[in-house]
Amino acid sequence: PLRTSLLMEDIGQALSVQYNNLVYDMKAAGRDIITLSLGEAFFDLPLPAFDGLTTPGLHHYSHSRGLPELRRLLAKYYETRFALPVDPDAEVIVTAGSKAAIHMALMAVLDPGDQVIVPEPYWLSYPAQIRMCRGEPVMVPHDVPVFDFERFITARTRAVIINNPNNPSGHIYTRAELVYLHELADRHGLLLIVDEAYNEFVPPGTEFLAAGALDPDKEHTVTVNSMSKNYGVSGWRIGYLIANQRLTDQVLKINQHLVTCAPTILAAYLAERFDDLLDITRPQIQHTVQLRNRVGTWFTDHGIDTLPGTSTFYLFASLGGSSLDSTEFAGRLLKESAISVVPGIGYGDSCDRYIRVSVGSESEDRIARGVAAIRDLVE
Ligand code: PLP
Repeated sequence: PLRTSLLMEDIGQALSVQYNNLVYDMKAAGRDIITLSLGEAFFDLPLPAFDGLTTPGLHHYSHSRGLPELRRLLAKYYETRFALPVDPDAEVIVTAGSKAAIHMALMAVLDPGDQVIVPEPYWLSYPAQIRMCRGEPVMVPHDVPVFDFERFITARTRAVIINNPNNPSGHIYTRAELVYLHELADRHGLLLIVDEAYNEFVPPGTEFLAAGALDPDKEHTVTVNSMSKNYGVSGWRIGYLIANQRLTDQVLKINQHLVTCAPTILAAYLAERFDDLLDITRPQIQHTVQLRNRVGTWFTDHGIDTLPGTSTFYLFASLGGSSLDSTEFAGRLLKESAISVVPGIGYGDSCDRYIRVSVGSESEDRIARGVAAIRDLVE
């Protein structure tokens, strides 16, 4: 009889993806759902023409570190925008989505039983990925300040993983927090894995510091990023990581054994239109961030707290005095009001009194209807 791994049986589906599958099914069945659960912003993307479909070479495998032209552009992007010098031939790997980049970085550093510190609210695949790599996630409740993380370190701790800006809170790590995390990594010989998938979603006047810039030799920092959010092309499955060659050499092998390379034709498109695309999305990103922060004031006006943050297109809204836990709350909201959000429990045990609300894929008036329904159910 078919037997599956006990570990995999114990790992749940990615809660946000699971919810969105449900929403896709409900929409396909003709239901109108106000969708505040999606992990992406929908941009108007008048994509410049590209004749790659008729370029035979682009239908094949390509370099498993990533197309050299794209690696060069990614290195230049980090170097010019975020003061992180990057060697495109040794320190970049292009991956099939940043999910894969994070997983492969973890796989490259963890031995069975090694621990990784995961501050809540975390991006919900981190603990599952750590466990799939036979490591042990050590969660830090959301009300613990960064400056207290040291007490979660043990002899088995190998890494700390953060997402900056944070999905779901929108928090941007301050310089002082990042400096402290680097000191911690240095002092305890840890790897700092920093997922910067939302790094363009920063409001004017707010400083976003790429953590890697504080460790230019990449002695203990892995930077992960993605085209999914900043370029609005999540379905293309292109992400990347930047790390010391000692690490990328290991990741390269995993990439070769697992997927060979990121989708060649789409990587080629990005290489050709890298700046054009960002020129198209950047104003829309700013519009989305401003909408996010406006919706934050609506919640406040309704007496609903959100975790502090100014970035991304997510709000992590408190359920206040509601007697429902986050799963019950999201379930009732969907059933009774046809509004989808993601239960906070997906982002950590300390987050079951929250829901994640995404403002990336709906119009402002539909979001307003959603927020009003959330308030009604909270009350
Ligand atoms: N990191 C964070 C913080 C995310 O929110 C997501 C997607 O939701 C990802 C990584 C994965 O993105 P992708 O695999 O599409 O690059």
